[in-house]
This record gives sequence, C-alpha cells and structure tokens, in this order.
Amino acid sequence: MQVEERNAPARSGGSGLAERPRLRGMSPEQLEGLVRAAGFDAYRGRQLFQWLHRRGVRSFGEMRNLPGPLRAWLEENTSPGGIARAEVSSESADGSFKFLFELDDGRKVESVLMPDPVREYWTLCVSSQVGCAVDCKFCVTGLNGFFRQMRTDEIVDQVLYARHYLHQRDSRANFRNLVYMGMGEPLLNTGPVVESIRLLTNTEGVDLSPRRITVSTSGIVPGMIELSRARTGACLAVSLNAPTQEQREAIMPITRKYPLADVLDVVRRYPFARNKRVTFEYVLMKGLTDREEDAHRLVPLLRGLPCKVNLIPFNPSPGLPYERPDEESIDRFATILMEAHYTVSVRWSKALDLGGACGQLAGQKGQRTRARQSFDKL
Ligand code: SF4
Repeated sequence: MQVEERNAPARSGGSGLAERPRLRGMSPEQLEGLVRAAGFDAYRGRQLFQWLHRRGVRSFGEMRNLPGPLRAWLEENTSPGGIARAEVSSESADGSFKFLFELDDGRKVESVLMPDPVREYWTLCVSSQVGCAVDCKFCVTGLNGFFRQMRTDEIVDQVLYARHYLHQRDSRANFRNLVYMGMGEPLLNTGPVVESIRLLTNTEGVDLSPRRITVSTSGIVPGMIELSRARTGACLAVSLNAPTQEQREAIMPITRKYPLADVLDVVRRYPFARNKRVTFEYVLMKGLTDREEDAHRLVPLLRGLPCKVNLIPFNPSPGLPYERPDEESIDRFATILMEAHYTVSVRWSKALDLGGACGQLAGQKGQRTRARQSFDKL
C-alpha cells in the first residue's frame, strides 16, 4: 500500500480569508485572466495550465519557466486544488488498481484503473460525487447515501493522479479511456463533469480523445439534455438494468421521476460522434432481471436505437440482497439479444477482489449519511 501526501488546502484555515482559486479546475483562458489581473503576462497562464495538466506537477516550485515573483504570488494567493491525499490499493489479480482519494474536507472517493490486456490500453473509472442520492437498490454507493458534489478540480485530479501512477510503473503505458462510472450520478453534477471533460480533452493538457470518454447515467433527463447541448463529443451510456418501467422503478426509484420512455427519447436525439452509439448497461441479477422474458422484452424496446448492450453480472456485496446469475443464464440472455442482431458484450467486472467493481465503490467504511438526501433536492 502506498500513501502520498498531496496539495495544500485551498482555504486558509480559520483566518477568514476568501477561498483561493483552485487552479486545476481552470481552463488556460481562465488562468490567463487570473495572472493578467495580478499584473503578470497573460501567456504565463497557459504555461501554468501545461505544468498542472500536461506535466501534472504538484508544486509551484517545480514550474521552472515561471518567474519567481509569479510563483511566489501563486503560492500566496491560489491553490493547485484537487485531491488532498491518495492511497493506492494493491494490484488486483486482474491487474486493476483501486485508488482511495481523500478530499480537502476529509471525504473519500474511489477510482479504478483497469487494463485491457488484449489491446494494451488502460481505462480509468472516475467518481463525480461523494456518495450518491439516486439510491439504485443494487449499488453500495447508493446504499451509503449522498454527501456532496465533487468539484471540477477534484474530478480532474483523479485522472492526473492515476496517469502519473501508471506512468511511474510503465512510462510507455497507454492511458486512453475514461469512464464516469465511479461513485455518484455524473448527470446530477453536470456542470463540473462537462468542465472536467473540456479540461481533460484540452490538447495542451492531458489531451484525451472525447471519443474515448463515456459518461454513464441512470437516466437523469435534464442532465442528459445539458450534456448533449454541451457538445463535448463524449459518449453516453445509460444504466438500463430492466426492460420495463415497472421493473426499473423497483430497483431504480429515480425512474419514477424520469420515465424510461423519456430517457430513450433523449438518447434518440443525442449528438453521437461519427460511428459512435449509446451503450446500455444492464446489470443481470438472478431471478430478477436475468430471465428469458426480460431479454425478450428488451429486444423491441431498443429497436431502432444505434446501441450496444453491456451485460454486467451482478457483483455481490455485503448489505445487498441480490445474487449473481449462473453462466448459463447469462449466456442465454446474451444469445437472445445477439439473435435479434444487437451488439452484446458481457462485462466481467474488473477489480472484483478489491471491491472496485461496478456498484461496489463505497469510498470509506462508515462514511454514511445520517439522513439520506433525496435527488429532488440536488
Ligand atoms: S448505480 Fe450509479 S446512479 Fe445508481 S446509486 Fe450507484 S452510483 Fe448512484
């Protein structure tokens, strides 16, 4: 296990001073404006962005091409922002890593870095909220409730940290894909999620391809519309999990507010990049969503939608009453969809032994809300 101390907090503890700008959540243009307003050349802001994002440095002292007075001003008046402290779990048997990140208020979130052994690239699954208010009945994060939104700089820093960790282990490793499928519902925190996509795809920074970024939602219709209007180029995944409104309501209460028909309507109008299509995530739970009749209902439901279906056998977790189906049922379910000419993959979740698989991210033992906050209030 590796523990690393990180950034100084953005707030001057108890001094009454205003909150400092958190630079890791700012665009090159915003950084240019910041340094210009402080009396320095605007182009220094762009250099600052490159240090923070492309090189991922952690202290102003390392920014060697910035003049001393600017570094001193930054030290005095700003914060790099991001994660306060990070811990890396031991490697999973499948080669994945789970990161436990402590934020500047002591809250914790998790991310999982997963290898694709065949095509030799890595995918990071990031969190977008501390906890989650959506309350999907099959998810540990939902079970623990909602704490707070994550800021842009905190979302971005999960990527910077994981990329740095990976490249320390193997400088040639291909850090390529990003999925917003960790703790939280990304489209109940759409502003910071969209901003983080813009920062992470900036060619002067991490320079991820938007085509390699996927935002997964439980079906938050206003957030889906906002994401589509933002034209980030990111792909969309919808956590479907059951083929009818009634079945969905039983395991995903959010469906009462955003009915399945409305969700599919937004999917139909989503501005997918060329050759891209929506991914429907479908958690297979024994006797509940894995039956042949469920697969047969799914076939007409998705007809006409450019899509692929990811089947995710349920990952058992303490406190959740559901079971994983046997392989025969999983095969049968997949076959029905494939015979109807859908593209289907079965996602045998990574990092199962670390508790880092889909629906298993909990942040911290004992990190529970006293009263679960309703999604209506977000
Ligand atoms: S599955 Fe996603 S949206 Fe549902 S409770 Fe878990 S984290 Fe929230």
